Formats: sequence, structure tokens, C-alpha cells
Amino acid sequence: DAKFRLRDVEVYYGESQAIKGVSLDIARNEVIAFIGPSGCGKSTFLRCLNRMNDSIDICRVKGSLELDGQDLYDPRRDVVELRARVGMVFQKPNPFPKSIYDNVAYGPRIHGLANRKSELDDIVEDSLRKAGLWNEVKDRLDAPATGMSGGQQQRLCIARTIAVSPEVVLMDEPCSALDPIATAKVEELIAELSESYTIIIVTHSMQQAARVSHRTAYFHLGNLVEVNATDKVFTAP
Ligand code: ADP
Ligand code: ADP
Repeated sequence: DAKFRLRDVEVYYGESQAIKGVSLDIARNEVIAFIGPSGCGKSTFLRCLNRMNDSIDICRVKGSLELDGQDLYDPRRDVVELRARVGMVFQKPNPFPKSIYDNVAYGPRIHGLANRKSELDDIVEDSLRKAGLWNEVKDRLDAPATGMSGGQQQRLCIARTIAVSPEVVLMDEPCSALDPIATAKVEELIAELSESYTIIIVTHSMQQAARVSHRTAYFHLGNLVEVNATDKVFTAP
């Protein structure tokens, strides 16, 4: 009953192999951290989970990857729908050059989640509340998102991702571009979101993995070398 069932996953960029046969189950509503040195394949593996790799011409993915028991790489799968179910937050906050409101409303509009303006307003408010931003932005929803601080922009990107009711949120070093106070806010937010979503977070910080995750998967040179409860990984025997 795993959310993701991943078996013997291999990823190649041309001739070069970035993931060398990784098997892992990810449970519903867990927070799992992918850690390991730069270049070990964390981002590459993460990007398989919503097929973000598809756009890289030279990238090939082999093995068995299932989401809720169904083949992730089934050619008939609707990738736009997949990326709503398995949303992604990137290292650098990347709000659209639009208003705060339109950033959050974008996904629900595309996916036809609201029939009336009032329904869209409700989704926007709810998403901004869940991202801990509502009180900060409710009086300036029409202001450009690019005028916000970096930490606010990242929480806006999280609001934008959850506005389409995903089941999973992928986060690729979501705090690396943030100062310590903004980082603490995003980490607090991850703890709250973990009640409702499966969260997979790539981080180079063991401290961050220890603070936010239930399980930690340690990658090295394209291999998954250890996966264990986070308190076991970081507690000296
Ligand atoms: P990360 O913070 O994930 O380690 P990098 O700085 O390694 O990011 O990579 C940034 C971007 O460059 C990513 O989109 C990645 O896919 C791409 N990239 C990384 N290595 C290569 C490479 N050898 N050739 C082409 N693109 C690469
Ligand atoms: P990490 O996230 O752990 O830093 P990556 O998944 O970004 O690692 O990279 C794993 C390996 O794949 C690295 O050797 C990197 O250079 C290579 N790589 C990543 N993205 C690309 C790309 N777009 N093109 C070619 N090689 C890439």
C-alpha cells in the first residue's frame, strides 16, 4: 500500500549513469528526506517521481516506478495531471511574474477546479492560509509576487503547489536560497503540511533532514546506501 513503489530504478544522461539501480517504497503521508553529497543523484531521482526529467532529451529512466500501484511511466499517462498530483517546489523561489492572487489561482484555473470567482477566491485563501501567508498578503493580493521577500516567495510557491490539491509535494532543496529565519518558517510549514501530504525533500543538510523528516534516504554516487528512520540515522549507537 505504498504511495510510491520504486524498483531497480536506473537513470542515464546519455551514456552516463546517474542512478544505479535504486529500490525504495515511500509510504502515504510520510516525510522522507533524500540526502547525500552534491552530484550523488538526489535531484535526478526526485525528478523521476513526477517525470520532471521528461523534458531533458538525453535523460532515460529504466526500472519499475509505480504511483498508487500504477505505472508512472505509462505512455498513456497524462503528465499535466500527474504534476498536479505530485507537485514540486524548487530550490530558487520561482513565482510567475504576476500578482500574488494569480500565482495561486493559476493551477486551479488550468485544472478547472473552480466554477465561480467566489470558489476560486476560496481556494486562493485556503492555500495561502495553509502556507502561512494569508495574514501577510490578504491586503495586497493584487501586488506583484516579485515584490515579496525570498521567504515569502517560497511560501507562495508552496501555496501555488497545494492549490491544486496534490497528494505528494516534492521539494528540491527548498531552503537553500533562504536566510535562517525564512528557513525556519518553511521547515515549520513542512511539519504542518505533513499531516495532509506525502512530502519528499532533497536537502544537503543533515540538520534539516533531522528536523523535518520521518525517514532519511542517503545517496552516494547514484546508489541508495541507507534508508532508515531519521532518529536512527542521526543517533549515535
Ligand atoms: P543541484 O543544486 O541540484 O546539485 P546543480 O547545480 O548540480 O543543481 O544543477 C543545476 C542544473 O543543471 C540542474 O537543472 C541539472 O539538471 C543541470 N545539470 C547538472 N549537471 C549537469 C550536467 N553534467 N550537464 C548538464 N546539465 C547538468
Ligand atoms: P544531486 O541532486 O545529488 O546534486 P543530480 O541529480 O543533480 O545530483 O546529479 C547527478 C548526476 O547527474 C551528476 O553527475 C550530474 O552532473 C548529472 N546530471 C544532472 N542533471 C543533468 C543533466 N541535465 N544533463 C546531464 N547530466 C546531468
